[in-house]
Amino acid sequence: MSDMPEINDTYADALSLMRLQEIDLALLKMKDQLKNLPAFPKIKAENAAKKRIASEKLKLTGKRKDLEIEASDLEKSRKKTEDEVEQQSKMLRENSSDHRIIADVERSLSNLAKAQDKIDFQYEKVLADLQTIEFAEAKLLEQEQVLDKDLVELNASLENTTSTMQAEAKRLNAERARCVADIDEDLYKRYQKGSQVFRGLGVEVLKGNKPSICRVELQPSDLAEIEHDKSCVQECPYCRRILITKDIGACGQAGAQAGA
Ligand SMILES: [Zn+2]
Repeated sequence: MSDMPEINDTYADALSLMRLQEIDLALLKMKDQLKNLPAFPKIKAENAAKKRIASEKLKLTGKRKDLEIEASDLEKSRKKTEDEVEQQSKMLRENSSDHRIIADVERSLSNLAKAQDKIDFQYEKVLADLQTIEFAEAKLLEQEQVLDKDLVELNASLENTTSTMQAEAKRLNAERARCVADIDEDLYKRYQKGSQVFRGLGVEVLKGNKPSICRVELQPSDLAEIEHDKSCVQECPYCRRILITKDIGACGQAGAQAGA
C-alpha cells in the first residue's frame, strides 16, 4: 500500500515519455518532409530554365541588333545605287547623241543593276534571318510567361504547405514542453540521451514478454524482476532502452486507476 503513490507517478511519467517520443518522431519527420518538399526541386528547375531563357534572349537581342544595322546599311546602299541610276539616266538624256558617253553610261547602269541585285539578295536574306529571330524571341517570351505563372502557383502552394506544417510544429512543440514539465528531470535527461543513442527511438514498451523495439523475448527471470519492481519506467535488460512496463501487472492496474 505504501508504494501506491510512487506507482501512480511512474505511470504518469510513462505516459509522458511515450507521448514525448511520438512528438519528437513527428517533429523529425516533419522537418524531413519540409526539407524534401517536391516543390523545392521544381522551383529550382524552373528558375534554372528561366535563367537559360534570359541568356538565350540576350544572345538573340545581340543578333537582332546586328541584323537591324545590316538591314539599315543595305537600305542606304540601295538608295545610293538608285541615286546613281538616276544620275546616269539624266546624263543619258542630256547626251543622247554622244556615243562614247552612251556606252559608258550603259556600262555603269549594267554594273549598278548587278550591284542592286546583290544588295536585294542580301537584304532578303537579312529580313528572313530577322524574322526567324523574332519568331524565336516570341517563343522564348511565351515559355517565360508559362514559367512565371507556374512559379507563382508553386510558391503559393509551398507557402501554404509550409505555414500549415509550421503551425502543426508549433502545436507539437507546445505539447512537448508540457510533457517535459511533467517528467522527472533525471528521467528526462535519460530520455534525451537514449533518444540520441537510438536515433529518436530510446523508449520502448513491453508487450507480453517482448519489448516493442528490440523485440527480444525476455527471460522469465527478467520478467519476474520487472514485475517485482512495479515501476512503469524501467530499463530493457537487453538493449538498455527505457522500458515502459505499463501494460503489465500491477503497474498497468495502478495506472488505469490513476488515469480514471
Ligand atoms: Zn530492448
